Amino acid sequence: MNLTVIGTGYVGLVTGTCLADMGNIVTCVDIDKDKVKAMQNGKVPIFEPNLEELFHKNISGDRLYFTTNLEEAIKDSTVIFLALPTPQDEDGSADLSYVKNVAHDLGKLIKDYKIIINKSTVPVGTSDIVKDIVSSHTDVEFDVVSNPEFLREGYAVKDFMEPERIIIGSKSRKAKSILSKLYKPFISTKRPIIFMDERSSELTKYASNCFLATKITFMNEIANLCEIIGSDVDMVRIGMGTDSRIGNRFLYPGIGYGGSCFPKDVNALVKSSDEVNYNFKILKSVIDVNVNQKKSLVPKLSRYFKDDLKDKKVAIWGLAFKPNTDDIREAPAIDVINELLLRDVEIAAYDPEAMTNIERIYGNKIQYGKNAYDILEDADCLLICTEWSEFTQPSFNRMKSLLKNPIIFDGRNMFDLEVMENNGFYYESVGRKTVT
Ligand code: NAD
Repeated sequence: MNLTVIGTGYVGLVTGTCLADMGNIVTCVDIDKDKVKAMQNGKVPIFEPNLEELFHKNISGDRLYFTTNLEEAIKDSTVIFLALPTPQDEDGSADLSYVKNVAHDLGKLIKDYKIIINKSTVPVGTSDIVKDIVSSHTDVEFDVVSNPEFLREGYAVKDFMEPERIIIGSKSRKAKSILSKLYKPFISTKRPIIFMDERSSELTKYASNCFLATKITFMNEIANLCEIIGSDVDMVRIGMGTDSRIGNRFLYPGIGYGGSCFPKDVNALVKSSDEVNYNFKILKSVIDVNVNQKKSLVPKLSRYFKDDLKDKKVAIWGLAFKPNTDDIREAPAIDVINELLLRDVEIAAYDPEAMTNIERIYGNKIQYGKNAYDILEDADCLLICTEWSEFTQPSFNRMKSLLKNPIIFDGRNMFDLEVMENNGFYYESVGRKTVT
């Protein structure tokens, strides 16, 4: 099939590349001229494991193209994916302007039957909005389908290639039949397509992300309680996780959820609920708890240094909102850095992939390391904000020889307490006893 993907971010570029890999001819469109030029010159603009190899393979195979010209891009495609940003608006709702603008453009440009598939995370009713906008410009037949994306950054290619399910929200038989063919290579009995109406499909995405954000936040509160009453959250987590009704995933406590999805999606569902006079109390608490959790390393640090953080040098490992991505949107590391800068702390940071993005925000307000060790030199302590695998088994001796004091505040529970004790560190983590 000839396909068009509008928006070449984490979702669009992965969608386009993976669909090209199944033999489709895919044209990806973006308004960002520099990004398109870079992709035309064979450069992948984001870090995502295994994407680069597939990207080059499909460009060489003449199946993957990039352009800024929407009219050209949709000319020969029946299927058009929208993978556009839906960032948080000032009032907490999802900003639909990108989706609406493209709907207007499409309405003016389409000349034959198209299926407009919305992969962006959008509030219930957006399919109807897109339908109304497109049909305000044209009498050409088209369908609008809700097809939310569930890929996780860091595993995006794998998740797209082997989705646990594909949700298609549409009442159109024609659209459903074409999409069934398109998605056939990705489905199996264990990985079904689930058909439903547009409004249920749109809510399924929010319900999933909000449930996961709630699950993480619940465990963060259990961890906070553990720290006060002397229980070990690792034990509690393992004990809970063996209950098949609970499951053992997403039970790891830490310094809060971040990223480009959970924070904005939780806010957007609260806002949509408020708009229909439904007070979504659980999600409001989730937001509150997470705001504090993201900064929770700072009071620990402050307590240790007896509120005297001025001119202390703090090293930070991990800046991305989670490992295996360069994405720093709503990353807890940003909250931590902001709090520390307010207290005149000198910061030296290292992340395997996210440093360029962080540098765009902070410039020379913080120092950047070439590797995990060089920022430790003369630092008063180390903070861990992202659990990259390269931090899992460091040389503790080397760390001790570089740090001014062998002190670690770990927001991701990377190390065994016993190991830290044996290596002579002061070690505070989340929901576990402090090693002194
Ligand atoms: P992104 O910000 O990484 O990428 C969006 C791209 O769209 C950018 O390259 C931007 O230049 C481009 N764009 C903006 N306006 C355009 C226009 N008029 N025409 C063409 N291109 C345009 O966003 P993302 O992370 O890929 O997310 C896209 C959507 O998917 C969001 O709604 C998000 O909530 C949802 N989603 C994201 C993830 C994720 O892990 N990132 C997962 C599932 C769903």
